[in-house]
Amino acid sequence: MNKDWLEKDFYASLGVAKDATPDEMKKKYRKLARELHPDKNPGDKKAEDKFKEMSEAYDVLSDPAKRKEYDEARELFASGGYSPGGGGFGGGGFGGGGYNVNYEDLFGGDQGGFGDFLGGMFNRGRAGGRRSPQPRRGADMESSATLSFEDSLDGVTLPLRLSEDAPCTMCHGTGAKAGSTPSVCPTCGGNGQVSRNAGGFAFAEPCPTCHGRGLYVDDPCTLCHGSGRGKKTRTVQARIPAGVKDGSKIRLKGKGSPGENGGPSGDLFIKVRVTPDKLFTRKGDNLSIEVPVTFHEAALGADIAVPVPRGGTVKVRIPAGTANGRAFRIKGKGIRGKNGVNHDVLAVVEVAVPENLSEEARAALDAFAAATVDHDPRQEAFASHAKAATS
Ligand SMILES: [Zn+2]
Ligand SMILES: [Zn+2]
Repeated sequence: MNKDWLEKDFYASLGVAKDATPDEMKKKYRKLARELHPDKNPGDKKAEDKFKEMSEAYDVLSDPAKRKEYDEARELFASGGYSPGGGGFGGGGFGGGGYNVNYEDLFGGDQGGFGDFLGGMFNRGRAGGRRSPQPRRGADMESSATLSFEDSLDGVTLPLRLSEDAPCTMCHGTGAKAGSTPSVCPTCGGNGQVSRNAGGFAFAEPCPTCHGRGLYVDDPCTLCHGSGRGKKTRTVQARIPAGVKDGSKIRLKGKGSPGENGGPSGDLFIKVRVTPDKLFTRKGDNLSIEVPVTFHEAALGADIAVPVPRGGTVKVRIPAGTANGRAFRIKGKGIRGKNGVNHDVLAVVEVAVPENLSEEARAALDAFAAATVDHDPRQEAFASHAKAATS
């Protein structure tokens, strides 16, 4: 139930008597539509508001069923019988189904005063084809962004250029050249559809002259070539949060297409790509870096300078007898966390085996082998296997 209708005087808005005939209202509507049309009053907000007001009024009063309901509701309201939220007119009434936005049918575009005008003038009688004065949420939009690895660590604000469908800026969506207006399509009479007989059956199909718009443009707009469609671009400052993962989709509430009639804006979804880094890879919330060490560093222990994100190095102490693949935690140098505290970097030891050995190095290794001849790492590792085979 549309409560604000009760507070509106549609008869006053349209400037007709309460018992005006449909014909009187139609004449008045056309007269006002011509006078108040936004194209005739560019920049005149007052005229535009009045135009919308009387379009809405005509929308209701020109429909006998709605007019009856409106009259009854007003009467009851005046006598104090209306209680907001109560059972009175809830449910069915005005609020129900029939409100499809015909402007989209006509232009495939979005809001604009001309929709009211054309909706009223040409679209009457089309099933469900009535302009809705109700708030409408804007459409969601999608975009993509590519971040550097560094920006993904701490988050970044990116200017994103968005392009969306909008009525052509030159003709305001009418498709007609400046100074002219489209006329009702002569083929379909404004319905946008024609019926064709085939084997005794009638089929409705889109009008071949106007392609379903119901309008005929004699002198097309030079910018949109008569389609009435255009593009609108705007730049959004998109805040990408810290720690965003490659391939993730983030949602920016209210940054999509603007709503209509006071409705909320849609959301903006951004598909994020993060350029991979040469040194660091992601392990959950932490970062990981592979640190090559020599055999003797792993065996004897060493202090190793490990690069960290955002530049510089951190010294990591590798104890004697460090196994290959062991990870050392460097605290607080990784991705910025939600609480402002950075996550960690894991330095993973990778023992580098030399490919070429000098005579001296080979001799040293031979001496090492001789000194450790009692240590057989496989004996313990494979012990269980040997037992299983003999039992
Ligand atoms: Zn145009
Ligand atoms: Zn047509």
